[in-house]
Amino acid sequence: MVSKAPRRSRVRVAAPTYPRVDEDDPGCAPTGKASDSDTLRFRLTVECAPVGIAHVRPDGRWLWVNDCLCSLIGYSREELLCRTFQDITHPDDLAADLAQVQEALGGERATYAMDKRYLRKDGAVVWARLTVTLVRDAEGRPEYFIAIIEDITERKRLEEEHAHLWSVVGHEISTPLTSLKARAQLLRRQLAGQHVVAEATQAHLAGIERAVSQLERQALDLRVAARADQGSFTLELTRCDLVALCAQAVEAEQLAEDGREIRLEAPAAPIYVDADADRLGQVLTNLLTNAVKYSPADRPVTVSVGHTGDLATVAVLDEGTGIPAEAIPRLFGRFYRVPGIEARGGGGASLGLGLYIARTIVERHAGTLTVESSPGVGSTFRVTLPRAAEGEWPDRDDGGS
Ligand code: ADP
Repeated sequence: MVSKAPRRSRVRVAAPTYPRVDEDDPGCAPTGKASDSDTLRFRLTVECAPVGIAHVRPDGRWLWVNDCLCSLIGYSREELLCRTFQDITHPDDLAADLAQVQEALGGERATYAMDKRYLRKDGAVVWARLTVTLVRDAEGRPEYFIAIIEDITERKRLEEEHAHLWSVVGHEISTPLTSLKARAQLLRRQLAGQHVVAEATQAHLAGIERAVSQLERQALDLRVAARADQGSFTLELTRCDLVALCAQAVEAEQLAEDGREIRLEAPAAPIYVDADADRLGQVLTNLLTNAVKYSPADRPVTVSVGHTGDLATVAVLDEGTGIPAEAIPRLFGRFYRVPGIEARGGGGASLGLGLYIARTIVERHAGTLTVESSPGVGSTFRVTLPRAAEGEWPDRDDGGS
């Protein structure tokens, strides 16, 4: 088989014959082949499009803007054309945008997309989804960016409202739960002092304890998801051994699921990552709990830890119901539960937030969380994380996979 040399990620986008801006009258009617009906149609399409569209020079100066962008940002076309995108970008979002511009100019990528804030002329903040493509000339030199700017202020406002609501609900549930838990513990101590306790009483108390810990978990999920959405999700990074973290999660799950076969396949030597151990533990527990919940009790669950090059990997495999292909794109979204998939033993009312939180945590560690699944065969959830810096690896010859 002949293998082709990999091409650079830089791609060339054919420069459209868009109307040229007259330097003396930047907001003017176009010059050149404006009479051509294709060009006219093109011009009308971009000028009248209900999203902001612009061409931006590599240094950030606006080259051409459509009407929608002008009304979104609150500047006239003339005012915009003598500014740069840097001038009207919210200071907190500028560094992220410029970093992606540099990557595009440097040939690392041809396009990028991000949510960012612009500052309107009247001082108001506008949230936008920005999608950018770099156009290069025939020699490959950067010519201009095509920017599509979509107003998402309303969506962001709703997301903030939802996050606030989850946070309030999460906290409100927690207070009575703490009291309920304390009373259940008191009751258990009192029953322990009695010689004879009816089986039904024991069962009721166990039922209350189960319900309390399920609600505690849901309240915690709501609070964590709210923090993730509000951007107030902090990590406390330390050097952690991923093998040890997996072993702890497996041991805890084995204790909770007495008799369930949970295998750990791991090298003897540590695999180090810089991570928030509690949060990463939460991810592993979520994946393991799901694998156990959504597969038959007589089938094993396997956690496999290893590394490939600079990446540490953890795979959680089950031989359960599997997930239909059409559900996979929504699986890591908020409040999503695959229709028709029931947790073994009922599993209680889950919120469908676990995988959303897990992916958020993994991505905040610059890692990925993906799934491969075949209905009727099983699922493999895979976490990849950057290994701790090369020079600091305590042992380069460990037996990772
Ligand atoms: P939940 O609390 O509902 O388990 P998650 O976000 O952890 O929330 O999972 C979302 C949904 O994904 C679950 O409701 C279930 O339908 C499906 N799912 C997750 N893990 C598995 C798995 N290992 N096998 C089959 N389905 C799964």
